[in-house]
Amino acid sequence: MRLASVAVPVPFLDILTYRVPDGIPVPVRGARVLVPLGKRTVTGIIVDPTGSLDTGQTPPDKIKSILEILDEEAFLPNDVVDLALWVAEYYACGAGDALAAAVPSTQAHKTIRIAVLTAQGHDQQAPIVSGVAPDVVGPDVVGLDLSRALPKLGGVAPDTSGVGLDFSRALPRRQKEALDLLRGAPHGLPVPELNDRGISTDVLQRLAAKGLIAFHHQRIERDPFSSGAAVAAAAAPGDRVLTEEQTHALETLGAAASTGQFSVALLQGVTGSGKTEVYLRLADRVLRAGRSVLVLVPEIALTPAVAGAFREAFGDRVAVQHSGLSDGERSDQWFRIRRGEVSVVVGTRSAVFAPLRELGLIIVDEEHDSSFKQEETPRYHGRDVAVVRGRNAGALVVLGSATPSLESSYNASNARYTRVIMERRVQDRPLASVSVVDMRQEYAEHGPDVILSGALKNAISKRLEAGQQSLILLNRRGLATAVFCRQCGGTIECPNCSVSLIVHSDRLRQGYGESRRSEASRAEAERDRHRARCHYCNYGMLVPKACPACKGPYLERRGFGTEKVASEIEAGWPSAKVARLDRDTVRRKGAAAGILRSMAAGSIDVLIGTQMIAKGHDFPRVTLVGVVSADVGLGLADFRAAERTFQLLTQVAGRAGRGTELGEAIVQTIYPHHYSIEHACQQDYSAFFAKELGYRQAMRYPPLTAMVNIVVRGPDARTALGDAATLAQHLRNNASAGRFDVLGPAPAPVVKLRGEYRAQMFLKGSNRPQMRQAVLAALAAEPDLRRRVSVDVDPVSIL
Ligand code: ADP
Ligand code: ZN
Repeated sequence: MRLASVAVPVPFLDILTYRVPDGIPVPVRGARVLVPLGKRTVTGIIVDPTGSLDTGQTPPDKIKSILEILDEEAFLPNDVVDLALWVAEYYACGAGDALAAAVPSTQAHKTIRIAVLTAQGHDQQAPIVSGVAPDVVGPDVVGLDLSRALPKLGGVAPDTSGVGLDFSRALPRRQKEALDLLRGAPHGLPVPELNDRGISTDVLQRLAAKGLIAFHHQRIERDPFSSGAAVAAAAAPGDRVLTEEQTHALETLGAAASTGQFSVALLQGVTGSGKTEVYLRLADRVLRAGRSVLVLVPEIALTPAVAGAFREAFGDRVAVQHSGLSDGERSDQWFRIRRGEVSVVVGTRSAVFAPLRELGLIIVDEEHDSSFKQEETPRYHGRDVAVVRGRNAGALVVLGSATPSLESSYNASNARYTRVIMERRVQDRPLASVSVVDMRQEYAEHGPDVILSGALKNAISKRLEAGQQSLILLNRRGLATAVFCRQCGGTIECPNCSVSLIVHSDRLRQGYGESRRSEASRAEAERDRHRARCHYCNYGMLVPKACPACKGPYLERRGFGTEKVASEIEAGWPSAKVARLDRDTVRRKGAAAGILRSMAAGSIDVLIGTQMIAKGHDFPRVTLVGVVSADVGLGLADFRAAERTFQLLTQVAGRAGRGTELGEAIVQTIYPHHYSIEHACQQDYSAFFAKELGYRQAMRYPPLTAMVNIVVRGPDARTALGDAATLAQHLRNNASAGRFDVLGPAPAPVVKLRGEYRAQMFLKGSNRPQMRQAVLAALAAEPDLRRRVSVDVDPVSIL
């Protein structure tokens, strides 16, 4: 009996063994197969064609057969299968889960129907005499070598719209017109275009029924840049004189790339030091040496500049992969990569699985960004998987950031990575000067409702007068962050989650030129429409007039977010062009790119936003950055709170003064002496790193300890905690033999989420394989819990 090991995309399932039916060739590794699973049929991936992974647990007569082999050649290349299996093991998830992350979405390719003349149609001068409509099914021109089994991939079904008609009479006028049009188009015309020219689909179908025309489908490859997603910032490489530091970085990195050996470099360059230029030149060298380049970026919609720069420099050789694309666009790009038509891929975290051949260079830009971590199964970190891929491929991995993660910086300090430093901005532009406003003094002088300090207000006025732009950061959305009852002391909470609801005006406009100052009555009416929303599950309700708990009419709003700051600025400077960039204003596809374009074009004076405005934007006319509440993230029960605050402040300050004018940053805080704020204001990375590493060491947190976060969900708090305690017991039994600790379980910081209660525990230790084994053993001992447990290895957020 011939066996094959197959990974199926079903959570938690291990690799399964199937029988290869007699008479068909053994499928290759990486091929897709249809297999029965329970009562269903699913598409799996062959991970071992010899079935050697079979554990022998299933009796031979119970082993089911593969139903169909979808690919003769590997759909996923070998190295991508290996990478996904590594992910499955390291992050303790199922192989099928990990492979699913590597396979493009199987949505249909977008196709367009083309009408062409048949031979009979060409001859059609005289009336037709034959009476039988021929089979008018056109050729399927979807030429896709990989997907022989297109229908399963969502391919194109033949068009069988022909209907037998009596067509021995002379053709009606419209039908003649259609034939005339098509005579002038040897390759046919798209049906929508014919429709535009007054030929209805009905007319075309009549012609098809007479055998005079046929339809076929053509696949459209959408250019993801055509929607204007890219804001190109850099000029083509080559026509610029590199700074001394850029030259040095390029030489060091170029030398490492040319060895053809795996190594990792941390490119630590201050904001505005010109890292993109270094990436481009380095990529150029690697491409010339005949190897390909993978570039990972945090979020393309927010950081289109790097993708745009690569596209500008390397044109059609670049494919883009990111979550803003439709499934169809994504898989178009994926197949281009798979066919070897591109040599550069720029994408977000899942692009780490892109099927590029001969990888020579992997760049992870803004490597500290938490969006590289996937917060659902498989919970992998794109940067860390990139390093593994680089190791497997013998490639150079470049991690770039002005504010490297503690992990990467620690690895550089240990000489596992090479640190390459760029500490000056291009053209010797100075970093923005940063001043701190102690908001406690501001409150003492002007009352507790102050949002913008006097210093920040003056600075904004100055920029408006000078025609310069300002960025205002507040890392919190909404109008008010809580609705509080003065009678009973309660706040309005989400019924599904243990968090308070956030007030929004819910005008889902573009966030541009919104909420102009209005008369009191309008404001009143508008206020009545304000909604309170949950930021976790999106539950929403109109803000009530009386407290839902005590019925008292004494509700009061507390706290404020970006929406409030925007209306405050609009009220204070009525002629200023104000826009907002946060998750509320970028719901619509393309909205973020639109706002960023307006900013780049200078049609926005003041842009208010959450951390989205701190990403690598390069707006030369921004000379002021204001931070409204620098301490927003510091209160969170997360060991990375200080690191995130430092990174956010340093990055946002780095947006100022990137042009010829000097930049200034004003940071409002109630903790002016917190080390993350102080060091960010001094833009002193090494001082922050030293201090933070000391804290991590003392508290036994990553990167000095390996950590696993385990969350157990349940219908009520007792079940969740009880089940978590059971798991913890298994882990502790296991831990006594090893060298790791089990902390908890305890209620998670957000104890109720989307209607489920959550208990949490941590493993801390130094031996990851041992910790993983213990987790897998504990889960195996409690199979009923598996569906309610999530395991996060190297967690980024522990809330
Ligand atoms: P970083 O990513 O390090 O913050 P960027 O790559 O965005 O910096 O570069 C900052 C700005 O400097 C960009 O506008 C870029 O086009 C420009 N720039 C980069 N290198 C040079 C150079 N050698 N000469 C002139 N301008 C440069
Ligand atoms: Zn909720």
